[in-house]
Amino acid sequence: MPTLLDGRKISSDIKAEIKLKVEKMKDAGQRAPHLAIIIVGDDGASHTYVDGKIKACKAVGFDYTLMQFAATISEEKLLKHVDQLNSDSDIDGFIVQLPLPEHISVERVTESISPDKDVDGFVNQNFGSIISDSPLLMPATPFGVMELLKRYEIDTKGKDCVIVGASRLVGAPLALMMSHTGHATVTLCHKYTKDLSSHTQKADILVVAVGKPNLITREMVKEGAVVIDVGTTRVADATKKTGFKLSGDVDFENVSKIASYITPVPGGVGPMTIASLMINTLRAARHNQ
Ligand code: NAP
Repeated sequence: MPTLLDGRKISSDIKAEIKLKVEKMKDAGQRAPHLAIIIVGDDGASHTYVDGKIKACKAVGFDYTLMQFAATISEEKLLKHVDQLNSDSDIDGFIVQLPLPEHISVERVTESISPDKDVDGFVNQNFGSIISDSPLLMPATPFGVMELLKRYEIDTKGKDCVIVGASRLVGAPLALMMSHTGHATVTLCHKYTKDLSSHTQKADILVVAVGKPNLITREMVKEGAVVIDVGTTRVADATKKTGFKLSGDVDFENVSKIASYITPVPGGVGPMTIASLMINTLRAARHNQ
């Protein structure tokens, strides 16, 4: 059986470490880090993610401010709120929860966030700083994946790492981190990749971030591979009170029979994304206060 990469446990270890650092900041007369969260509309999954982020703020002792707007808010108004947060010295960092309604440009909104308050690590400047020697704020989900591997002492140096899914949010920044920080040899696959299996079968470390349940089957994975499943899709499940369950992109039941390490969904990468957000907020507070 593989070792389960327990994102919940590692995330709670990281939060305990941050809590101690926050207590020290307060003892030294500084205020606690302050995270603001903007959420637009009433998408159920987004509200669940935001609830998780607020719970984490409470656990580590951060202050937080939640700003909720109707889905009808104009882009111009939303940009004004972003501007206000950029210049509010009581706010160390903030996020705009995605997705946004279709009439609002995600790129225009995220690029208007001041890079030193961009605790999701979305802004182009922070993307680019992945390959700098002293990055301030890292893209949260890929950083969470790197941290999970590090905490389980999984060596990435010289390994063949195949990433399936090349989005701006996950796959593309992770490819840079894996090669720059992790010194792995990286293959980045996307929906135009020919013969996906021929790539995934070579992976010592396989990361999947697509959003298609069971895309990765047992035949596509090399025996002994480390498998990280970023995918999170709501799938109907009448046995659950909510009416759905969360599914990753990997056929966990069968792939776990041959993997050396594997993340569960839920409980793998998801909690690590929140832990990264807390790390980034602490870094932003130290930088901005
Ligand atoms: P996204 O923006 O939709 O990107 C999906 C990527 O997968 C794209 O690069 C796309 O290729 C590629 N793709 C689509 N079909 C493919 C196929 N059949 N074979 C290979 N590649 C394919 O999604 P995302 O924001 O990166 O999120 C991906 C998944 O991760 C979702 O399930 C999301 O919910 C989850 N997620 C989880 C966390 C977490 O904290 N656990 C955080 C973020 C995202 P093209 O580039 O060619 O379009």
